[in-house]
Formats: sequence, structure tokens, C-alpha cells
Amino acid sequence: AKAVAPGRFVHYDPGMSEEVEARRRLEVEIRRSLEDGDFLLHYQPVVDVRTGRVVGVEALVRWQHPERGLLSPQAFIPLAEQSGLIGPLGDVVLRAACAEAAGWPGDLKVAVNVSAAQFGNPGLFDDIAGALAAAGLPPQRLEIEITETVLLENEERNVAVLRALASLGVGVALDDFGTGYASLAYLATFPFSKLKIDRRFTGDILAKRECAAIVCSAAALGLSLGLTVVAEGVETAAQLEVLRLTGVTQAQGFLFGAPMPAEAIAGRIGSEVFA
Ligand code: C2E
Ligand code: CA
Ligand code: CA
Ligand code: CA
Repeated sequence: AKAVAPGRFVHYDPGMSEEVEARRRLEVEIRRSLEDGDFLLHYQPVVDVRTGRVVGVEALVRWQHPERGLLSPQAFIPLAEQSGLIGPLGDVVLRAACAEAAGWPGDLKVAVNVSAAQFGNPGLFDDIAGALAAAGLPPQRLEIEITETVLLENEERNVAVLRALASLGVGVALDDFGTGYASLAYLATFPFSKLKIDRRFTGDILAKRECAAIVCSAAALGLSLGLTVVAEGVETAAQLEVLRLTGVTQAQGFLFGAPMPAEAIAGRIGSEVFA
């Protein structure tokens, strides 16, 4: 769907399907909520597997919809990506994450998801550098999470952006590892600092020997490349016990905490230890 400029007149077409109409309405609502500041971040702790300490958080966007309550990303991120609104939304997310993280003690890292559509914006590097500067957050405390779809198009330009971010000190994590097709080739080409093993493998680590084998191999691969390796979606203590044997560096999941509001995460930082 084509983006409609703010304030531009949207004609009602009686032949338009309900679905198209619903999408157009949602797009208008996203625009309005960007102006009204209805998007906020929840944060999920990322824990060091050996010490049990919180070493970072992942910022996950939520939409406080004026009528429908708190919405999760799947309800609006795909449309934002298709309509071009992911640009302004992504900038809101980056600025909020950097500003909130700047207020936290220690060297805790904040990870922000950046979708492939955002890499279409030639100003992405400047936006990230600008968000860091505005918040006074050292680049070493920011990490961006990308999936390999970022790397499928404009490979040369995108690798240049990632290299520039890496040399600034920003971490680059490969998200949802194992769910795509070309991750191994990309691991050799792109300046990753972290590999996040997708939760579909972690979730079945006890139930399926195939998943255990994949987690073990992915962890060994990442570690041998000198990367930090994170297991996503850890829900039980039994999963964590097995993960410890794989060499995985960090873990994230409901076992340690679901995504929570900024005020709640601040209370968790540096204090709790999961043995
Ligand atoms: P993701 O980057 O893979 O984020 C992890 C998702 O897994 C989050 O869902 C999180 O709530 C969920 N999760 C964490 N631990 C567990 C667990 O132990 N069990 C299970 N079943 N789920 C767990 P969420 O917050 O709904 O986000 C969904 C996706 O939306 C994210 O997947 C990410 O791709 C996207 N997203 C979220 N925030 C942003 C954003 O600011 N910008 C962009 N571009 N995408 C975002
Ligand atoms: Ca992520
Ligand atoms: Ca993920
Ligand atoms: Ca995912």
C-alpha cells in the first residue's frame, strides 16, 4: 500500500475490500499515534548464563492504542514496514531506547530491533549516531538486532552501514539464527558481534534431539567465530541446565522475565541473580 501523507484527504472507495480498508485505517492510526507518542518500549532481560546476572536488555516496541489497548508488534510492524512508516517508528524506538538506557547504571547494553525496511533509508547510520548523541549513550552500550533478510538486498550498501556502525562501537547481532537460508555465508561477510539462536530450537531442546544438536552446533560455531551466543526463548530451568552444557554465553526468555515496562526493568538491573 502506498503511504498517505499526513493531512492528505483519503477518498472512500465503496469497492475497496474490507481488508484494504482496515489496513488503510490502521496506517492512519499509526501516523496519528506517532504524533501523539503512543508507542513505548518494553524491555526483556538478557542474562549471563554463568553468573546469572542481567547483562543487557532487548527493547521491544508496544503500541498503546487509544481504543484497543496495548498491542504487540505483530499487530502493526508488518504494516509499518510495508507503508514506509517503519522509518519514523524506528527512529522513535531508537531514541527512546537510547534515552532510557542512558539513565541505567553500569554498562548494561540495550538491543534494538532494526528491520530490513529501515535499511532502505540512506540516513539510517546518521539516525543511529544521532540517537546516541542526543541521549549521551556510549555506542558500546547499543546493539542492533537484524535478521538475515537485511542482507538479502543491497548487500554492499548494507554491509557498509553495518561496518560503519561496528567501527563506531555499536554491536550487531544476527537475530533468529537458524531460521533462514544463508546465515553461514553471512557470518563470514558481516561484522557481527552476537548470534541469537532462535527460540524454536531452544524451546524443543529437551524434546527433540535435532534441536539439541542444532543449538550445540550453532553455539560452537558462534563461539569459534568469537561471537557472543545467546539462546532465545528459555522458559524452564531444565532448558537452562542443558544450555549450560552447550557453551551458550547468554540466555533470554520467560524464565528470567517477560518483556516489561522501563520502570520495572530498572529495578532488575544489577540486582537479581538466577543460579
Ligand atoms: P524478536 O526480535 O525475535 O523478539 C523476541 C520475541 O520473543 C518477543 O516478542 C518476546 O516477547 C518473545 N519472547 C521472549 N522470550 C520468550 C519466551 O521465553 N517464550 C516465548 N514464547 N516468547 C518469548 P514480541 O515482543 O511480540 O516481538 C515480536 C517481534 O516483533 C520481535 O521478534 C521483532 O522481530 C519484532 N519487533 C519488536 N520490537 C521491534 C522494534 O522496535 N522494531 C522492529 N523493527 N521490530 C520489532
Ligand atoms: Ca530481536
Ligand atoms: Ca529473535
Ligand atoms: Ca523472531
